[in-house]
Amino acid sequence: MSHCAPCSPTRSSTNHIYFASTRSLCPTCKRAIDAKVVFRHGSVFLAKHCPDHGPSEVLLASSVDWYLDALSFVAPSTAPDGPLKPTRDGCPFDCGPCRLHQQQMAMPVVPITSACNLNCPVCYTVNRNIDPFFISKESFAQLLDRLGTTRRDLDIINFTGGEPTLHPELPELLRMARQAGFRRITLSTNGLNLRDEAYVRELAALDTRVVLSLDSFDDATDTALLGATTLKTKLQVLDLLEKHNVTTTILPAIAKGLNDRELPALLELVLQRKNICSLEAHPIAFTGQGGAGFDRATRITIPDLHRTFHEATHGRITEKDFVPSPLAHPLCYSIAYLLVLDGAPPTLDQGYVPFTRFLPRERVFELLSDSLYLQPRDKVEQALGDAIDEIWANPDLVPEAQRVLSTLKRLIQTLFPSSGPIALEQRQAIAERSTKAIYIHSHMDEETFDMSRILKCSIAVPEADGSSIPTCSYNILYRGRDPRFRRTG
Ligand SMILES: [Zn+2]
Repeated sequence: MSHCAPCSPTRSSTNHIYFASTRSLCPTCKRAIDAKVVFRHGSVFLAKHCPDHGPSEVLLASSVDWYLDALSFVAPSTAPDGPLKPTRDGCPFDCGPCRLHQQQMAMPVVPITSACNLNCPVCYTVNRNIDPFFISKESFAQLLDRLGTTRRDLDIINFTGGEPTLHPELPELLRMARQAGFRRITLSTNGLNLRDEAYVRELAALDTRVVLSLDSFDDATDTALLGATTLKTKLQVLDLLEKHNVTTTILPAIAKGLNDRELPALLELVLQRKNICSLEAHPIAFTGQGGAGFDRATRITIPDLHRTFHEATHGRITEKDFVPSPLAHPLCYSIAYLLVLDGAPPTLDQGYVPFTRFLPRERVFELLSDSLYLQPRDKVEQALGDAIDEIWANPDLVPEAQRVLSTLKRLIQTLFPSSGPIALEQRQAIAERSTKAIYIHSHMDEETFDMSRILKCSIAVPEADGSSIPTCSYNILYRGRDPRFRRTG
């Protein structure tokens, strides 16, 4: 190619190792350009060159070992169902998806409004507050119809915004999703509207899972990330969610030097409260209305978070307790499941054991192949049974072997009673009170964009016409042009 000669910002560096090529975006003009993955001083970088805007380079991962380990997990491709966009402009400009796409949608993410009651400096989407968009019940019904005909299994749907609780008909929309057959309905919210106990009671009655953004326990950090002090309200909301036993996920956006040191406290919160089933940490992405301008010194990568968990738990959780998701590109998710041992509530130092201590990592990866979140189906029963046999044979290899054994036996008997099978929803509820999950979900931005990751994306924004756009390409390339969300002036 004609631009080969200048396309190496690392050419002067003698200690880098070329690993792979991909397609990325120019961070300035967002055109698609060739990019190289290179290793240097144990870290992974993406280097590229735009004919108009010159060379650029960004850190992808602070550990080559983690990067290669993640890529060693290979899952089969699943061809997307529904209409495919013809290839015209090339990936990622034909999303909908196009014929290149290699993954079926696992979780539709539906932005039901562009209205928001915060204006977060870290916001990675584009929202319009003036004359905001609210999805109509008719449009939502059409969308559910299309999802029903194109998805094999209506497992999970995510409601987002803007701030979805500003939609006046949210409870009705949640009901519609349940009637359409979705088993797991998740609501991403900043929680400010959940101060209203009657509203929380209603969400609980609809068995809605709340994904609460909670970034910091410090007001100054909260303000730096969200532009407001939200902690006091969120602590009240956490109490209400606990009181009404609402299954909850804590979702912090993690920024280096700002709130990465608070990950242990956030994990401790997840461990201590029975209704909180997972921590979903998002390393900050520098795109959208806020994130695009946020301080690049705060960029953080998945292995940095692993190290923090390792240190905070004195090795009870290590990087090898995490596996990728088989339903996404291996660099997008890093997942650890923890078995909560029967007895006193867990803390950072006791009361839980990662699944990978009693099951091979490949087996945990395989268990995640049906759904983005572990589901207690028959193959889980088989895996837990095998784990029991293995611990019997080699008790010295598993920490707290006797407690793990008795917890696993109790769990199998409850999930799969000998009196006959119970509903999957009921099993899921039991399993979520006996396990905790850590999901690190790394979103891309213009700088880190890697076409090979988009091809394997299963988290998509669906439309009523049956099309769906992978969330990272939607946030970076499509949402700013979407008339429902586009900011004017
Ligand atoms: Zn450019």
